[in-house]
Amino acid sequence: MTDPYHCPNCKTNKTRFNLIEQHPKIVKMDANTGDIISEHTSETIEAFHMQYKGPPYKVQCGVCGLLEDESMFTKYASYSQKKENLWWLENRKDLNNRKNQIYRIAQSNLMANLSADHIKTRWENKVVKEMMREAECKTKRNIIS
Ligand SMILES: [Zn+2]
Repeated sequence: MTDPYHCPNCKTNKTRFNLIEQHPKIVKMDANTGDIISEHTSETIEAFHMQYKGPPYKVQCGVCGLLEDESMFTKYASYSQKKENLWWLENRKDLNNRKNQIYRIAQSNLMANLSADHIKTRWENKVVKEMMREAECKTKRNIIS
């Protein structure tokens, strides 16, 4: 459990999960009734009885209830992270252009009692906040569509 999870079904949940540990019960059943005749351990298992080879646990999304192997959740997490990083890379130039544009407007509107640096910081903070909001909306839209 060292990799992040992201639910591939509801696409919103990255934090709430039910981890279901899988401890196989090795049994021998009556073919007609389904009654358990005997229980075994990995030491007492019969030679031709195949040992459990599945994953040590299942993962259930704590939001939509999807029940799957862990790999479904880790694979989707790495896919969605790559997609988000790509969006930032693709839009970096555009974000910089907009920042410079706003800085130029700020410079040309220099107010008497504010230094240029003060205005620059204020505008940059505003722009960064705006970009963050936009990125969030964009990411949500991508995830929904
Ligand atoms: Zn889910």
